[in-house]
Amino acid sequence: MGSDVIAGAEPALVIAGERVAAATTFAVHDPATGALVAEAPDASRAQLDDAFAAAAAAQPGWAADPGARRAALLGAVGALLGAVDRLAPLLTAEQGKPLAQARDEVQGAAWWIAQHAKIALEPEVIRDDDRAHVTVRRVPVGVVAAITPWNFPLLLAAWKLGPALSTGNAVVLKPSPYTPLSTLAMVELLAAHLPPGVLSAVSGGNDLGAWMTAHPVPRKVSFTGSIATGKAIAAAVADDLKHVTLELGGNDAAVVLDDADPAAVARGIVEASFLNAGQVCCAVKRVYVPASLEAALVDALADRVAALRVGPGTEEGVDVGPVSNAPQLERVAGLVGAALRDGAEAVVGGSRLAGGGLFHAPTLLRGARDGMAIVDEEQFGPALPVIAYRDEDAAIAAANGTRYGLDGSVWSADPERAEAVAARLECGTTWINTHLANHPYQPFGGTKWSGLGTENGRWGLESFTEVRVTHRAVA
Ligand code: NAD
Repeated sequence: MGSDVIAGAEPALVIAGERVAAATTFAVHDPATGALVAEAPDASRAQLDDAFAAAAAAQPGWAADPGARRAALLGAVGALLGAVDRLAPLLTAEQGKPLAQARDEVQGAAWWIAQHAKIALEPEVIRDDDRAHVTVRRVPVGVVAAITPWNFPLLLAAWKLGPALSTGNAVVLKPSPYTPLSTLAMVELLAAHLPPGVLSAVSGGNDLGAWMTAHPVPRKVSFTGSIATGKAIAAAVADDLKHVTLELGGNDAAVVLDDADPAAVARGIVEASFLNAGQVCCAVKRVYVPASLEAALVDALADRVAALRVGPGTEEGVDVGPVSNAPQLERVAGLVGAALRDGAEAVVGGSRLAGGGLFHAPTLLRGARDGMAIVDEEQFGPALPVIAYRDEDAAIAAANGTRYGLDGSVWSADPERAEAVAARLECGTTWINTHLANHPYQPFGGTKWSGLGTENGRWGLESFTEVRVTHRAVA
C-alpha cells in the first residue's frame, strides 16, 4: 500500500491495513458541477465487524509502546504531507471548497496529528506521605468509533485521530456519505505506517454510523456533526455506557461594541463567516451591532462580501465555492428567502445562483431580527444576518438566548471592556477581536446543545483515556 494508490485508484475501505472492496457502492458528486466523482464503497455490517475486530486485536500492542507509537504517527504524518497535491483535489472535488483551502486542510490535518503525537500524559503522584503513595495514570479507553461530517472531512478526522491514536487507542473512522473519498485516501496513507488494525476507515450511509454507535467493541464514540444526530448518538451509547464526545452545531454571535472600528471588524468577520462557504461549525453566523454603528459596519461588510469571488473550487482565485450538497443549499436558500419575506434586506446577494452547480450568492442581510429563523438557527452557509441593537445587555441576552453555545466573539477597542462582555457569553470559546482562531493545544467544545466534552490539547487527549488510580499503603 502506498501513496500512489490515491490518484485514479478505486476508492476502498481500509480494514486491518488492507484495501477492501464492498459489495455495493454509492455515488459521490462534485457540488460545483454535479458530475460523478467516484463510487464509494458501502461497508456491510460484516465489514464493520471486521474493522472493530482488527482494532480490538491491535489496540493492546499499540498501547504498550509510546515511543514506537509516536514514531509511527510522525511517519504517517510525513506520508500525509507528501500527498497534499493528490489529496487536496479529491477533497475539492467531493466537498467543493477552493483548492487552496483544501491544501490548507490536508496540511492542517497533518499538523494536528503531529502536535498531538508530541504530547504525553504522564502519571501524576497526587499523594506521597507517611500513609500512602497514590498515583493517577491515564490509560486508553480501548477502541474508538469516530464519525465525521462533510464540511472539513480531513481536519475534523484529524482532531479525533491525533488524540485518540497518540493516547494508545485504535480507531475505526466513518466519514460523511457526501465526502468519503478524501478520508478513505487519507486513512489508507496513514494506516500504511501503523500496525494493521490500529486505524480503519469504513464508508457508508447514516445506518453505518448507527451500527457503529451500537456496536459492542468501541468504548468511546467521538462524533462531530448535527445536534439531531448527536442526541441520537447520546441515546444509542447509553445502553453500553460508552464514553462520548459530541461536537455539534453552533450559531456563533459576533457582538460588536460601540467603540469598535467598523473596517477592522468587517475584515475579521467576513473572513470568519464565509470561509468554506460558511460551512464551519464555528463561523460567525449572526452579527449584533449597535444602531449607531450599523450603517458604517454594514457598508464595510458589504464591500468585502461583494468582493468575494464565487466559483468552482478548482478555479484560481475563488474565495467561495459551492454549497456542499443539495439539501444544504435548499436549507440556506430557504432561510434567506424567509428572512427577505419577513422584511430583511439583502445588501449583497440574496439567492442561489442560476446555472449548474450548487452555488449560493454570498449574502449580507440587513434589518435581521431575533425570531427570524436565519438568526435563531444555524444557517451553515454563505449568508450573514446583521442585527442592530440599542442596549448592550439586551444584545448579550440575545446572543445567549439560544440552545446553541459553541463559540462567540466580542469586537471592541477596549480590551478590558471586551473581556467583561466575553465573560458573559455562554459558549465554549469566546474570541476577542478575532473569530475561528483554533490551535491543537487550545481546548474546543460547546456548551448547551452545541456539545458534550472537549477536543484538542491535554483536555482532548484526556477525553480518550480513563483514570486509573494506584493507592499503595505506606507501612
Ligand atoms: P450529520 O449529523 O447529518 O452527519 C454527521 C455524521 O453522522 C455523518 O458521517 C453521518 O453519516 C453520521 N450519522 C448520521 N446519522 C447517524 C446516526 N443515527 N448514528 C451515527 N452516525 C450518524 O451532520 P452533517 O450535516 O454531516 O454536518 C453538519 C453539522 O455538523 C452542522 O450542524 C455543524 O455545525 C456540525 N459541525 C460541528 C462541529 C463542531 O466541532 N462542533 C464541526 C463541524 C460541523
